[in-house]
Amino acid sequence: MLLQHSESPKKEKSSSPVTKEELGRATWTFLHTLGAQYPDKPTRQQRKDVKELMAILSRMYPCNECADHFKEVLRYLVYELSREQ
Ligand SMILES: Cc1cc2nc3c(=O)[nH]c(=O)nc-3n(C[C@H](O)[C@H](O)[C@H](O)COP(=O)(O)OP(=O)(O)OC[C@H]3O[C@@H](n4cnc5c(N)ncnc54)[C@H](O)[C@@H]3O)c2cc1C
Repeated sequence: MLLQHSESPKKEKSSSPVTKEELGRATWTFLHTLGAQYPDKPTRQQRKDVKELMAILSRMYPCNECADHFKEVLRYLVYELSREQ
């Protein structure tokens, strides 16, 4: 785990630059912005790119708990999408 907890009782010097909450807010902003500009009819390359980005994010997200949570969400979405097709 690379993050510090925001509930930490005293401010100690940490190698961790941001809290889980700060990282979460920044990442949600990024993901919502990406979603807003994503085309209604994506090309094959755009579909491939977004799939890879999500897979990499779920592996490299610098908060282990959040990365595990994200993997669960992605598994659920893949399952739901496969049922729709
Ligand atoms: C991929 C990812 C996984 C995360 N997993 C965890 C975790 O397992 N445990 C943890 O304590 N924190 C997790 N976080 C951080 C958490 O989601 C919040 O960003 C953080 O707690 C700050 O909360 P906030 O109330 O300021 O809301 P913001 O971060 O400002 O969130 C506001 C908006 O972000 C979206 N959002 C926020 N949380 C979720 C969620 N869990 N699922 C789907 N959409 C959401 C919604 O669109 C919501 O309206 C995760 C963040 C990301 C990006």
